[in-house]
Amino acid sequence: MNVQNDIFSATQNSYLDRMRALSPAFAERAGHWDRERQYPWQNVQELAQAGLMGMTIPERFGGGGATFLQCAQVVEEAARSCTLTARILVEANMGGISAVMTYGTDAQREFTAPIVLAGDKPAICITEPDAGSAATEMTTTARKKGDHWILNGCKHWITGGGVSKLHLIFARAIDEDGTELGIGGFLVHVDKEKGIDPKGFSVARVERTMGLCGMPEAELHFADLEVADNMVLRTPSGFKRGFADLMNAYNSQRVGAGTISMGVAAGALEHAKRYLLERHQFGRPLAEFQGLQWMIADMDAAVHASRLMLFEAAGSAEWEGNRFPDMMMAARAKAFASEQSIKVVNDALQIFGARGYGNEEPLERMYRDVRMFTIGGGTAQILKTQVAGAVLNIRTPQTRGAYLAD
Ligand SMILES: Cc1cc2nc3c(=O)[nH]c(=O)nc-3n(C[C@H](O)[C@H](O)[C@H](O)COP(=O)(O)OP(=O)(O)OC[C@H]3O[C@@H](n4cnc5c(N)ncnc54)[C@H](O)[C@@H]3O)c2cc1C
Repeated sequence: MNVQNDIFSATQNSYLDRMRALSPAFAERAGHWDRERQYPWQNVQELAQAGLMGMTIPERFGGGGATFLQCAQVVEEAARSCTLTARILVEANMGGISAVMTYGTDAQREFTAPIVLAGDKPAICITEPDAGSAATEMTTTARKKGDHWILNGCKHWITGGGVSKLHLIFARAIDEDGTELGIGGFLVHVDKEKGIDPKGFSVARVERTMGLCGMPEAELHFADLEVADNMVLRTPSGFKRGFADLMNAYNSQRVGAGTISMGVAAGALEHAKRYLLERHQFGRPLAEFQGLQWMIADMDAAVHASRLMLFEAAGSAEWEGNRFPDMMMAARAKAFASEQSIKVVNDALQIFGARGYGNEEPLERMYRDVRMFTIGGGTAQILKTQVAGAVLNIRTPQTRGAYLAD
């Protein structure tokens, strides 16, 4: 495929036109959700009406059948105006739902699609207090009991915990005879307004975060939570390599997260450009000072390079045999974009001087928001370790034991 042509075919992306129509209102409301620490329900409703929640769901399940590349273009546009809303878009199109649409049974797809299309942002539940970067050290278990699985454990920093209706929970699957089968994905539906309140599922606490303030980051507890066997996401390699399959699906969310950070940086760059031309000091517009010109040139290059890498990764999902973005491309793009975006937004804030530090401009919010992306969805360090392994064509196990065994 011709990556260049695909990346620049944004003009043929009707989803992007719909997003552009919503953007000004989203930009106006962004400060409100941040100050009030409120989930942006109004934006979600408008996204759902515009067919952008679940745009990547195949048409036969009621979605738009958009590609990950088209979706990434929409995510960038959303992130320029409201980081929080862009995160919802990613998880309603590129996260757990894309795993279900690829690996799920028809019954699972028919069940989950309408929930997302109506406005749900599914939660993906991997991280535990003692299993962060070392995700495979998770201790949440799912024990088989007849035609059910019984889940016990705890997940923390779960985006949307308490708001999301669908949950894809990663747990160690254990057979009735005690045999450990591997890590699997278990679908849990919660909708208290409709009386769907599974026994043994609870939100234990919500974090107070520095940015992305309208999004709950929650600790979820599972105490003998029953999950029917038909809600197990059976991936192609079965439980044995289930974690690898599930993480393969997660590559789409990684590209989405990187794209949000790039979109925030692109938005900050636009603000900086405006201010450089507007603000005068020493009797001249700031834009005439070479020190600032070089800053803006570096910022522009960082955003452009990030966009190319991210959209290349998103587009790789369309290549023959790939259902999700290529792991190496997704890791490289997210690590690069997340680090560069922090620098770009920081420089944009600097260009505004004191005004950037205050809340009349959105820079201080964007700065707090963008800081997250080198952490959530795989830290920059862990992603670079993956990239190094691919570049050097070596295994990069991180445990002492694995090195000793090599
Ligand atoms: C806002 C936000 C939203 C999140 N949403 C979700 C979610 O929806 N679902 C979910 O499951 N999780 C979520 N997470 C959790 C996230 O995936 C983890 O924070 C992340 O994987 C890192 O784990 P940790 O925080 O425990 O850090 P640790 O793993 O304890 O790492 C601490 C530091 O050490 C570094 N480090 C660790 N191991 C290595 C190594 N081998 N080599 C080099 N450096 C290393 C890390 O890069 C990091 O800088 C979210 C996190 C945040 C902040």
